[in-house]
Amino acid sequence: MICYLCLKKRETSLSWRRLFRLREDVLCDECRQSLVPYDGKLTLSPLRDVIICYEYDESMSHLLYTYKKIGHVALAEAFISDFKRLAPLVRTHDIVPIPAHSTDVERRKFAHVDELLRAAGIPYRHLLRKRHSIQLSAMERHERLKQRHLFESISSERLTRPIVLVDDVVTTGTTLRQAAALLYERGAPDVRAFVLSRPIHNRRGNRANGRN
Ligand SMILES: [Zn+2]
Repeated sequence: MICYLCLKKRETSLSWRRLFRLREDVLCDECRQSLVPYDGKLTLSPLRDVIICYEYDESMSHLLYTYKKIGHVALAEAFISDFKRLAPLVRTHDIVPIPAHSTDVERRKFAHVDELLRAAGIPYRHLLRKRHSIQLSAMERHERLKQRHLFESISSERLTRPIVLVDDVVTTGTTLRQAAALLYERGAPDVRAFVLSRPIHNRRGNRANGRN
């Protein structure tokens, strides 16, 4: 089998995973072990809580670059077991991806957060539309602060179910906060978030790279 990230060939051993017909990891041991679980805590009002899976470090940055920019969509399968954590919430919550702007989706040919959920078999629905194609991280600070309305609602339907927002990277949390505020305005009784990664710099109070 070939690792989906480093493309190195690796031996397939008769592991317990294979014996019990569980899905083979799409990453080799080396790539898998390079991903560092996130053990910090992020409080982000008005969200109830935020679950973060991994540190956004060099390894995760490389993986997400390969996934999003080079377009290796199958890498979404590397996070199936992480996103399966949402399965118990599906019956009672709406799972809502933070959307990319439509021009980014067209260029990329796929919606990167949707694909992470789809790979794990987690049903989701879109409630938000991104208003600008520019990334906050590409803006100067004073420009970023002016971006008060990153999203608009897709419909005017009153929301009645609690919501889990899903994104690939969080740094300052502006994106999640604005999305949550809009969903609360529309009636959502509760909004929380599930995010794949976050730069560790934030926890130490240094300037973070990457997205907001
Ligand atoms: Zn590898």
